[in-house]
Amino acid sequence: MVKESKLYDILGVAPEASDAQIKKAYRVSALKYHPDKNQHNPEAAEKFKDVSHAYDILSDPQKREVYDRYGEEGLSGGGGPDMGNMGAEALFSQFFGGGGGGMFGGGGRPSGPRKSRDIVHALKVTLEDLYKGKVSKLALTRSSICQACNGVGGKDGSVKKCSTCNGTGSVTFQRSMGHIIQQFQTVCNDCKGEGEVIKDKDRCKACAGKKTITEKKILEVHVDRGMANGQKIVFAGEGDRGPDIVPGDVVFVVDEQPHARFQRKKNDLFFKAKIDLLTAIAGGSFGIQQLDGEWLKVDILPGEVIHPGQVKVLPGRGMPVYRLNSFGNLFIDFEVEFPTDNFALPEQLVLLEQVLPPRPVLNIPDKANAEEVVLQDVDPSMRQQSREEDYDEDDDQGGERAQCTSQ
Ligand SMILES: [Zn+2]
Ligand SMILES: [Zn+2]
Repeated sequence: MVKESKLYDILGVAPEASDAQIKKAYRVSALKYHPDKNQHNPEAAEKFKDVSHAYDILSDPQKREVYDRYGEEGLSGGGGPDMGNMGAEALFSQFFGGGGGGMFGGGGRPSGPRKSRDIVHALKVTLEDLYKGKVSKLALTRSSICQACNGVGGKDGSVKKCSTCNGTGSVTFQRSMGHIIQQFQTVCNDCKGEGEVIKDKDRCKACAGKKTITEKKILEVHVDRGMANGQKIVFAGEGDRGPDIVPGDVVFVVDEQPHARFQRKKNDLFFKAKIDLLTAIAGGSFGIQQLDGEWLKVDILPGEVIHPGQVKVLPGRGMPVYRLNSFGNLFIDFEVEFPTDNFALPEQLVLLEQVLPPRPVLNIPDKANAEEVVLQDVDPSMRQQSREEDYDEDDDQGGERAQCTSQ
């Protein structure tokens, strides 16, 4: 039996959940509510704090035991509530790569200088941009060391080591449970884990003692010819700056936008060409505007017959290959548009018989005494009454089709 289940409820697990279940539940919630993903949702930040706090307690066998027995009351006292600055980021980094480089970066605070998180942006680019290459100037908001106080936070000598925690940022406290004395470490409340304190009157006016200010930085982002969707453009060390912080990276991820005329697969382009029947069987030309705006006049030679659905290729007319002086191919997927009913008079149609291959021999036995029927256009209401496959028969089986519809 546990005294209270609040922390378990926050993570959405039962009080008898295993360590692995707790860890999994935390991961799911932390990803969902992480501030990086919820910049416009202040409620998520609170949730993230709660989730991190709950996991902080329940992932530690000692703390969990205390909580199970005494509830949250049992965890407070001594050095104050067992949550604070250290919580979220340090915990989060356990899962997502402590050394930084992961999307949420950030090293564990307790050991060595911290690496600030990587700033990751999706960069929307058109296929034209990826074909021709492009330089974009993008403004980035990041934290930077305050120039007014040189990152000290106040007047010279005004920043004092916190006496409560002796500058370590954390305090230990003891609690006796029956015969056992347990020792806990928690974030120092007096300095909020910073390890130092500044008197209000000595605080730097420019940064309010925070040592950092928010600045705008312009980055020139080069989208190179032939870059792929999802490719990363990395500005190493251009992330947030601060005292004792190794700046993280700024990463732009190429987000290729769909194109109205072309589809891209790696270095190849695919184009749907709609041509008329005369061009398809007797030759002709059509135009394709390339991604650099230039036009290609594509010739279909007389004698060459293009079938509906046929794919042809223009070698070397696809996308530029990244960092190489070559190009992929341009595949053309043909649609052939047939003439409408009565496009020609019967006596003109006879001319077609002179040039097109002859009709095949009628596939009805001589003695069959076949009944003559004429095709009609399909009325949509008729279609609903019968199964779709009834209409998927080949055209030369017209007699059978008529039978099916009358069933
Ligand atoms: Zn300052
Ligand atoms: Zn302190």
